[in-house]
Amino acid sequence: MNTPNDTIVAPATAVGGAIAVVRMSGPSALAICDTVFSGARRAGEAAGYTVLYGTIADGARVLDDVLVTVFRAPHSYTGEDAVEISCHGSRYIVRELLALLVRRGARMATPGEFTSRAFLGGKLDLSQAEAVADLIASGSRAAHTLATDQMRGGYSAELETLRGELLRLASLLELELDFGEEEVEFADRTELRAAMERIGAKIDRLIDSFALGNAIKEGVAVAIVGRPNVGKSTLLNRLLNEERALVSEIPGTTRDPIEATLNLDGILYRFIDTAGLRTTDDTVERMGIERAYASVARAQIVLQVFDAADPAIEPLDLRPDQCRILIANKIDRMDPAAAPVSLPDGALPLSAREGRGMEPLLERLRAAVDASALDDGRTIVSNSRHYEALHHARTALDDALGGLETLPSDLLGEEIRQAIFHLGTITGEITTDEVLGQIFSKFCIGK
Ligand code: GDP
Repeated sequence: MNTPNDTIVAPATAVGGAIAVVRMSGPSALAICDTVFSGARRAGEAAGYTVLYGTIADGARVLDDVLVTVFRAPHSYTGEDAVEISCHGSRYIVRELLALLVRRGARMATPGEFTSRAFLGGKLDLSQAEAVADLIASGSRAAHTLATDQMRGGYSAELETLRGELLRLASLLELELDFGEEEVEFADRTELRAAMERIGAKIDRLIDSFALGNAIKEGVAVAIVGRPNVGKSTLLNRLLNEERALVSEIPGTTRDPIEATLNLDGILYRFIDTAGLRTTDDTVERMGIERAYASVARAQIVLQVFDAADPAIEPLDLRPDQCRILIANKIDRMDPAAAPVSLPDGALPLSAREGRGMEPLLERLRAAVDASALDDGRTIVSNSRHYEALHHARTALDDALGGLETLPSDLLGEEIRQAIFHLGTITGEITTDEVLGQIFSKFCIGK
């Protein structure tokens, strides 16, 4: 990480809009701005949160009319002195302005450098900084809610409480050491066990929430499988209400998994239309079928489609965490006068072509994701780095619990300190340059 004694600059907006914002932050931000900006007042003389109107010029050559928003340390995103220059949204103007500011002493920011400065300056903890990236990337109501909650710090506060409770236990154990083995045991083992189990249960709840958190952030993967020609592509089209997948009369023509998304009540479902599951000699098609099995393995929900007139269902090897929805398609072709065909248990009768039976299917899709935690405002972990850290913390706590009766106090305390360490990596109390580098390099320039 660069030491924040220099001044960084980067475009803060994407190209294409009417207005572009260039952001500059660091000890010389106001001074550098004043070397190119002239208006009724200089940025260096303005109070924080002031907007100044004027022109940007390189010597005698005027580049643009701009608005400059002045931020004074520590009341800015980074915690440093900063300016945001709003200019006209021309790629040329932005490039010239950046070049000009760099010539006057600023440095082009690296990806995520504004946010990493906000973290180093104590404006955000690490999980809040990560939430900024999630917020910018959020594409659904649920993902937005998660990122906002995490950014506001509710999650950090919960972790802080857990850390605090563990620290109390660790210090009790250390106190016990100071008084020697013959002395009174300060941390009564039964009480200690109960406290550790209580904390462990809270960590477990956070770990379990990752299934939903990950689904919200990445979308819920849904694989559509079934024999060729049963109507998988038609069903997908019907679901998405658009002709994206290839519909064909020839069996086995859907060879490439096609990804498409559907937003149901703020949760994104990612559909993977796959080649029919059947044995074949055709190499290209076989590759498609292998991919179909692979997408079943990746899916949280498997829509297994069959022809209502031919209710033969291929056996599927599903994990307990996967949800299967059976769909008896083409019911429009059933002769109402003929004896009814008995459908397998729980199968949804449906006509993809005519759009009949779609509402119960959407209901099943909604029900397959338990999003109640989101509505209840419970903390949901959506970041895999946090998920891993929670696992490590839980393992350390388990080791301590396992050795409660046998381990000496100092080793017990050491295990608890390990759990504290891992929780601390989430919010960044404990971190390394390497971890920070990894996190912030995934940000865009200007964040
Ligand atoms: P896939 O190979 O499983 O993807 O099947 P397709 O979606 O390509 O459909 C195969 C054929 O079945 C096409 O001619 C579709 O129009 C037809 N089809 C699909 N769904 C229905 C349905 O609900 N009713 C009827 N009658 N035909 C359907």
